[in-house]
Amino acid sequence: MLIVQKYGGTSLQDIDRIHSAARRAASLAKQGSRVVVVVSAQGDSTDRMIQKAAQVNKRGAAREMDAYLAAGEQMSAGLMSMAIGAMGSPAVSLTGWQAGISTDGVHGNARIVDIDVSRIQRELDAGKAVVVAGFQGLDPAGDITTLGRGGSDTTAVALAAWLKADRCQIFTDVDGVYDRDPRLFPDATRFGRISYEKMLALIENGAQVLHDRSVEFARQYGIQIEVLSAFTGEPGTIVGGSEPF
Ligand code: ASP
Ligand code: MG
Repeated sequence: MLIVQKYGGTSLQDIDRIHSAARRAASLAKQGSRVVVVVSAQGDSTDRMIQKAAQVNKRGAAREMDAYLAAGEQMSAGLMSMAIGAMGSPAVSLTGWQAGISTDGVHGNARIVDIDVSRIQRELDAGKAVVVAGFQGLDPAGDITTLGRGGSDTTAVALAAWLKADRCQIFTDVDGVYDRDPRLFPDATRFGRISYEKMLALIENGAQVLHDRSVEFARQYGIQIEVLSAFTGEPGTIVGGSEPF
């Protein structure tokens, strides 16, 4: 079984949360699954980096912003890989380009166009959990690109598609997809399953739980996305598909 798990910023906010994500990944690996973990930058570090960049140059070149912002995910990847290692499971971190992710050249909002998964496959074959820095790739000019805010979701779903993963789990700070923002509307109801079309409509109306392109990839490649809480690990919402697992 090959599982792609993605952890967002709040799910990696501090050492305790990194440990709990690492523990979940390591225990799957110990049970014999091939595990790919996609990580976002920790907490609100991308926001803070954007503010810092503006202090240096209010209109910094998009290429340089990408070079800077991609580092947030790379730091998470190294930390997560070491945390999984500390749980007794061999792990390796990869940047987006080490993971073979090629994008177009639209800095700040690049699209994934291809993934050469051979390096990831090699590491999995060697028995390692593979931690991939989300939100980034390399364009045809060989420059670092980022995928737009929230783009680590798209890294995860695209990897699940190219690797033909059995499961794609997006761990987040809510326990699934709701019809309205559960933080503002206490009577919001949670979907057990939601279609790609309905999910895209919710995103269009401002829902931020998933990056829109991740849902488009999932629809195109027939990937079911599980959205679930990093804190409870309880089943959340399944996006797409109709067959039970
Ligand atoms: N760190 C990036 C952001 O805050 C990407 C992501 O979290 O998915 O937008
Ligand atoms: Mg997000």
